[in-house]
Amino acid sequence: MKNTYQRLKILEHLKSVKTHPTAEQVYNKIKPKISTISLATVHRNLNQMAESNQILKLEVKGQYHFDADLSLHQHFVCSECGKIYDLFQPDISEYALDEIDQNKFQVNNVQVIFNGICSKCKKI
Ligand SMILES: [Zn+2]
Ligand SMILES: [Zn+2]
Repeated sequence: MKNTYQRLKILEHLKSVKTHPTAEQVYNKIKPKISTISLATVHRNLNQMAESNQILKLEVKGQYHFDADLSLHQHFVCSECGKIYDLFQPDISEYALDEIDQNKFQVNNVQVIFNGICSKCKKI
């Protein structure tokens, strides 16, 4: 029961943000609400939810970030500020899905990550 409650709170938090947080960032936000929760628990729950395709897990610069938005979308990672932006251009992901041989590969999700410099960092 306790685990289910904690998982629910983790998912709730993840759904409320668009920042693609790491497990540590999720933990720091949840800790004040659930004082008994540990970083290991947050890690485990996030990984389990990612494995069961309830959330997305993105690897950026060797760190894992999590995203509760399961709609077909792409990401842009800024190499300056490290921010992860959501891009909503379903055509890109749909094209990738259409082109893959589904007989050979059973696809669960498609991740498109663009790397570069965001407009905020470009101005400086
Ligand atoms: Zn930037
Ligand atoms: Zn996203």
